[in-house]
Amino acid sequence: MLDYSYRLFLSNWVLNDPIFNLKYFLWSKIPLHHKQNIQIPVSYLRINIDLMVIYMSNGNNHRSTVFSNGHVSRVSGDGTLKIPRELLSQLNVPESSPVMVEAFRECLLVCPIEKMKLNSIYLEITSKCNLNCIMCVRRVWKDEIGNMDFKLLKKIIREAKELGVEWVWFAGYGEPLIYDHFEEAVEEVKQNKIKLGITTNGTLLDEDMAKTLIKYGIDRVVVSIDSPFEEKFKKIRGTEMSKIIGNIRHLYEKSQKSKKPEIWVEIVAMRDNIEDLPVLVDLAGKSGATTILVSNLLPYTYELAQQTLYFNGHNIASDIILEASKRAIASKVRLLTPYFELKTQRSCNFIEKGSCVVTWNGDVCPCYNFMHTYPCIINGRKKMIHKVSFGNLNDQSLKNVWFNPKYVRFRFTVKNFSFPSCTDCEFQEFCWFVEENLMDCWGNSPSCADCLWARKIIQCP
Ligand code: SF4
Ligand code: SF4
Ligand code: SF4
Repeated sequence: MLDYSYRLFLSNWVLNDPIFNLKYFLWSKIPLHHKQNIQIPVSYLRINIDLMVIYMSNGNNHRSTVFSNGHVSRVSGDGTLKIPRELLSQLNVPESSPVMVEAFRECLLVCPIEKMKLNSIYLEITSKCNLNCIMCVRRVWKDEIGNMDFKLLKKIIREAKELGVEWVWFAGYGEPLIYDHFEEAVEEVKQNKIKLGITTNGTLLDEDMAKTLIKYGIDRVVVSIDSPFEEKFKKIRGTEMSKIIGNIRHLYEKSQKSKKPEIWVEIVAMRDNIEDLPVLVDLAGKSGATTILVSNLLPYTYELAQQTLYFNGHNIASDIILEASKRAIASKVRLLTPYFELKTQRSCNFIEKGSCVVTWNGDVCPCYNFMHTYPCIINGRKKMIHKVSFGNLNDQSLKNVWFNPKYVRFRFTVKNFSFPSCTDCEFQEFCWFVEENLMDCWGNSPSCADCLWARKIIQCP
């Protein structure tokens, strides 16, 4: 007898494509007794057009509402479908507002356009960097490296303003402070009254740079510090930790009057540096940081995979995290820790917060995971991640790409987690879908089914 979740998993295929389902059983080497035990409730096999389920996307901040929840509607003779007025008012959608309709096999997605707001953009203004950290994906990718054209950057900021974007981040894989037009880029964002955050390795955050950041009222600076100990820091990042801490302290002292930027410290937790976290909390607190963001490592080689702290059957970091949390409370610093094991819940911060990532050459990608092409190791398996772009801003507007039906549909799928989970799937060692992010066994393309960001194992500012 199969459990409920497995039955749902199967029923989804049956509804979607029985032939595809059959193919799955041919290649997946499921033992015969599993097939004999499959029981799919009859109701799953019926699709009654009169009782079609309508999903109503409820903006960026809430889960979608199932229209059929007490609101069954029939398609009338002229082909129109009326959405009940009380449902529209519940969702705060004016009756005349434009909606985007996407037809799925088993539902219609009706999405009020004004509710699908783009709130924040991570701009990779450069993918060049002055460091070569041991855990950096830039060591293994074959992607071209470059700077964003400044005219393109201005166009993006202008269009972001028109769309009501609240936050722009100069981030991605590269060091934003080495961008040729850095100060002009900052000015462009702040003139448009958009909040600006920067993630940096801190090496170039000298006195002049601190003056610039304060002058333009930059809102947040996130500095990566992987150990409070000089020798270990040098081993990971190949540069001096004390200089970076000095830069942070100086920035903090000079920003006392303006109270901006807020300073965050970010650490990629590995076996070699996790024990340093409590001392890092002390150091960051004394240096003026308000928040310490801990992320796990996404390894790109088998050697680096030895450094991961998750999926070990127990949380080997738990005592250290507890100690770090106590010190964070004492230092009045916020400590944001990741999960170290898989939880049932999945949630994608990029989609939930209405964010996108724009790479230096103008491609609009949904998240950090899909912004470049690179190999990585997940659960001891090698996986090839292919870049996912829904359009390029050199020849399209930000609005057109954000509302590109394929991108809307992708966001809807991710928001509702209408995809399987490879990371804890019992077939992951036999399955070839899992070797890449191109497709999964439910037919989603690209597939988020193996994503560690959605599991809060990896997290970004
Ligand atoms: S500073 Fe960031 S982008 Fe540069 S090498 Fe290190 S991890 Fe990579
Ligand atoms: S590993 Fe992933 S794609 Fe393959 S069967 Fe399992 S959930 Fe589906
Ligand atoms: S679930 Fe993961 S892969 Fe999918 S959009 Fe979110 S972060 Fe990217």
